[in-house]
Amino acid sequence: MTGSPPPSSAGRSVSGLGRRVDAFIVAVAVACVAASTLVASIELGRGIEIGNGAVFAIVAVLLVVTEIRSTPLLKHARSSVTPSWAFTFTLMLLGSPTVTLLLSAVVTVLADVIARKPAIKALFNTTQIGLSLALGALVLFAFGVHGPVFDGGPVGSDVALAIIVSGVVVFSTNGIIICRLLAWIEGSGFWTMMRSTFLLSMTADAAMLAIAPIFLITAQNNLLLLPLMGTATFFVYQTAQDALSRAHEANHDALTQLVNRRAFNEAIGQHLAANGPSGNAADASVFILDLDRFKEVNDRLGHRTGDLVLQEFAARLVESLPRHATVARLGGDEFAVLLPDAPTSAMDCARQLHAALSEPLIVDGFPLSAGSSIGVAHAASHGETASDLMHAADVAMYRAKRNRSGVEEYHAIGKQVERGRMTLLADVAEALEEGQFHLAYQPQVDLASGCVVAAEALLRWDHPIHGRIMPDQFIALAEHTDLIEPITGFVVDRSLRDLAALHRDGHEIGISINVSARNLENRGFVRNVIDALHQHGIPSSHLEIEVTEAAIAQDPELIVVAFDELRSHGITVAVDDFGKGYASFDTLRRHDVDRIKIDRSFVADLATSAADDQIVGSLVSLAHTLGLDVVAEGVESAEVADVLRRHGCDLGQGFLFSAPVPFEDLVRLCPSSTQPDSNTAATEAVPA
Ligand code: C2E
Ligand code: CA
Ligand code: CA
Repeated sequence: MTGSPPPSSAGRSVSGLGRRVDAFIVAVAVACVAASTLVASIELGRGIEIGNGAVFAIVAVLLVVTEIRSTPLLKHARSSVTPSWAFTFTLMLLGSPTVTLLLSAVVTVLADVIARKPAIKALFNTTQIGLSLALGALVLFAFGVHGPVFDGGPVGSDVALAIIVSGVVVFSTNGIIICRLLAWIEGSGFWTMMRSTFLLSMTADAAMLAIAPIFLITAQNNLLLLPLMGTATFFVYQTAQDALSRAHEANHDALTQLVNRRAFNEAIGQHLAANGPSGNAADASVFILDLDRFKEVNDRLGHRTGDLVLQEFAARLVESLPRHATVARLGGDEFAVLLPDAPTSAMDCARQLHAALSEPLIVDGFPLSAGSSIGVAHAASHGETASDLMHAADVAMYRAKRNRSGVEEYHAIGKQVERGRMTLLADVAEALEEGQFHLAYQPQVDLASGCVVAAEALLRWDHPIHGRIMPDQFIALAEHTDLIEPITGFVVDRSLRDLAALHRDGHEIGISINVSARNLENRGFVRNVIDALHQHGIPSSHLEIEVTEAAIAQDPELIVVAFDELRSHGITVAVDDFGKGYASFDTLRRHDVDRIKIDRSFVADLATSAADDQIVGSLVSLAHTLGLDVVAEGVESAEVADVLRRHGCDLGQGFLFSAPVPFEDLVRLCPSSTQPDSNTAATEAVPA
């Protein structure tokens, strides 16, 4: 029967709200017991009388079967239609409300136990149904209807009226109790709850109740007519269930069964409207959560595992939050929470949540860690509309990701409002047009000779409002859009232009540029690079393309094609951040490349960590065996450079030699055919 608000299923009851909900559930239980006792005592006083034993038995069996079978039809749905209202009401009209109440209680408890619902939920379900039915029975008594309402003859108007009023009372009691509870739990208004969410399922229940008397008349008339009635009942039920499923799908995410973005926005809107900007709504907070490294899991372990991670993450999220929180999946690996609580506890709650989400998720029996970043915004200070709040939480989340701080609260920086990720992307086109992008260059040094032999081009964005923005703040985002193409286009063009200038001055070094998977997937990319080489008069052997393992893993087939094409033109291909991903060796097995760049996480402690020393030593020999060059990234000290030399590593790149510097400084770091000794690391160069 309608009425299993899920929030009472999980989580702690942390606030006054939780206590209020608990008190309400207890009150319903007490009222149920009182009303049922009254019904029983009235009925016992007159003697229990069951009209038609055969019909009663058939309907009772139908009740048991439908109630127990139908519970999980919509797994996480707030409600589902079950035909049991029709059968319980039929039983009640058939004769004994007391027996009906008992039977209904047993069946509901049984169904909830089988569905493993928590005790509090089973208690609520059973007693709210019990209370509704008991009040319906008292109405029948009040109309003077005792015992079976039909004896086979025509139904009198007074009895018909009693049945209608009793049905209305059962229906409204049930609806009011459930909407009252859900409105509290979800922080929305009672009437909003009545109107929106429950109208649909309550109408279905009303239809089920209305069928009961017809069912009864038919059955009393001739049992053989029951199958006809059953078919009609089933059809009504099926139609109602379909309508509910559609309504559920429109508001929920199919994978996690959490509410979707649309429904979440609506929930915030409803909450703000119900509680008013100066009222309780001011206590509400919105979290936006994003999984760290989900893309990598998805790419490396496949979409099925990715889906399982999202489902496990969603379950952990619901488990870790107070039960009155609304949890949504906004799309991809982005989730959101609406917490109708005071702002002080919201930050604590976000931190606890972050800790809970940092524990490994068990996926297919294996622990997988999927950390998260959480942004928090409060209705009191960060926005009066759903979209303002979402935007503020998004900005805070992005900051948490950038700072790797886990949880951040939104705050506007002075008068200037911090920009969210998407709005930052909106500035890219203008940035390209207005020359806000620059390149910094970081030299790559031949470890044996100490000569600068190449430089890596690293993008910098000097934003008119936000100042200098580093690439890891916008590249990953731009990679999800077509914007990465003009951005890489800029890098290719500018770096080759600069290189041409170096070559003209006699500095015969190479240049390395970073490209994204999306670039390589674009069939025209290699052609554009070749054209740019021609245009600037650079031999292709002076250009290196760096691609991270993670990017290679995204679309291995297309990337093979792009690599082959680049290499067939004499362009060098390097695997960037080697060792950092899940499939470094697979990358080498499946792709023809020229060079690996050992990730700086292995290099940083090389001089002090025996493990790193062994790993780097083995990587260098492996690469050499495969005929590949090795570049060590993040070389910060002379000791590290010594170890690398000892292992026979070819090139080094890092702060020891130079931080990334503007083009003008690179010139000074470069060896030239005319000045062979000008290659020493220029520590005085200004970092860029
Ligand atoms: P990456 O390719 O691994 O670039 C090297 C990063 O390491 C640079 O950061 C550099 O400043 C930093 N670094 C260099 N030497 C050292 C060192 O000795 N110690 C430490 N701790 N760090 C060092 P940056 O410039 O912030 O670049 C970050 C990442 O952004 C790059 O990582 C690269 O993946 C990406 N990126 C930069 N420019 C572009 C671009 O034009 N296109 C694409 N697709 N990605 C880019
Ligand atoms: Ca790189
Ligand atoms: Ca790197």
